[in-house]
Amino acid sequence: MTNPTKVFKFGGASVKDADAIRNVANILKKYREEKILIVVSAMGKTTNALEKVVAAYTKKTDDAFALLEAVKQTHYQVAQELFGTEHAIFSLLNDTFVEIEWVIEEDQQDSYDYVYDQIVSIGEMASTRMLAAFLAHENQAAVWLDARDVIRTDDTFREGRVDWETTGTLCQKKLPSLFDKNDLVVTQGFIGGTQENFTTTLGREGSDYSAAIFAYQLNAESVSIWKDVPGILNADPRLFDNVHKLDRLSYKEAIEMTYYGAKVIHPKTIKPLESKNIPLHVKSFIDPAGAGTLITTDDNITYPPVVVVQPNQVLLHISTRDFSFVTERHLGFLFQQFDKYRIKINMMQNMANSFTVSVTERTERLAQLIPEFEKDFKLIVDRNLELITVRHYTEDIIASLSRGKIILFQEYIEETMSMVVKEIPEMIRK
Ligand code: ADP
Ligand code: ASP
Ligand code: MG
Repeated sequence: MTNPTKVFKFGGASVKDADAIRNVANILKKYREEKILIVVSAMGKTTNALEKVVAAYTKKTDDAFALLEAVKQTHYQVAQELFGTEHAIFSLLNDTFVEIEWVIEEDQQDSYDYVYDQIVSIGEMASTRMLAAFLAHENQAAVWLDARDVIRTDDTFREGRVDWETTGTLCQKKLPSLFDKNDLVVTQGFIGGTQENFTTTLGREGSDYSAAIFAYQLNAESVSIWKDVPGILNADPRLFDNVHKLDRLSYKEAIEMTYYGAKVIHPKTIKPLESKNIPLHVKSFIDPAGAGTLITTDDNITYPPVVVVQPNQVLLHISTRDFSFVTERHLGFLFQQFDKYRIKINMMQNMANSFTVSVTERTERLAQLIPEFEKDFKLIVDRNLELITVRHYTEDIIASLSRGKIILFQEYIEETMSMVVKEIPEMIRK
């Protein structure tokens, strides 16, 4: 059986317009004759734009068609820049978008999460059609694969849980024969399919995870995730100056960083790779010759402080109404509710009379959860906070990060410090 040796993942920024797509084709030219599974995200900010279509459709604001039309036009414009006015891509794109037009023509019958997945997934369908067609146009023949035929999930729409066994069987059935005849296979990140052939998504930013699922199933030699940064940096460059690249990371460190919310890789990506010891490269599509960051088993690495900031935190301070201790029975109930409303706890602390958690703002879900808690508990809710985590912290860095802020909640676990902070309100002199 021929297995691809590599899995490449190209994120939204790397395929955001015609020049970006040309750049991807140029990167691939350097890997001629290699077998590569190319996992692609939706172009640029398409997923956000499609989320607006979903919102318009489900809230009946009448502009769903106009919003979808704008997404279509952006794609047609890129197609025109790449292929001119006559090319088979136009009917492929049209077929992709028409399915959504059929959905939004009808009144909403299905659940929001189901509708979301059917609509939002077309971003990846369109971007992969475009890239596969462009590679063919450049004589870099690539076959297009529908990821929904191989990534099998359950029907938890918007957060599809992967059925690893069936996915393995489907990958083995489909992929080797594709790679027998082609060097390049282009497929979608972020999406999967249920047993009943409905489309699911794996959660926002899930294309990295898709790359890891494919790599695991194919025993790939390595995975490369191509980004607009030189590699993994010790903090988000959008938030901090003076950041620097980490040349190497262990799987463990990468799992910790992404678990605490580093936005550079989807948190579920690392585990499948670690379990098969598949190296992960995070590389720059702007400087493809750059070394990037290599993530492997190596745990002999000395790390500088690594900072992760999660904005939009909500602190829930929960206590019993009758001043009794918070017991396991209470906690059991609280955890069940978090699970029911799919709210992930980022940080928590249990004291004798109270239980405090920090969660990321999900306005609609919290609007359902909070009344559940308020039935039996006293609840104080504090919004607009930040959760700052520092791996390999030093006292200096904590002092500098907390300057001008009130620390509401802080925790030290081994070499990790986490704190939930609030801006000190500005004092205005009368
Ligand atoms: P993709 O196009 O693959 O979806 P993303 O935009 O999701 O890429 O991720 C890349 C971005 O992640 C970078 O532009 C950077 O702003 C941000 N980022 C956040 N934390 C880090 C970090 N520790 N190292 C590098 N980039 C980071
Ligand atoms: N397009 C999806 C998103 O923007 C998945 C991804 O890019 O990883 O969330
Ligand atoms: Mg992304």
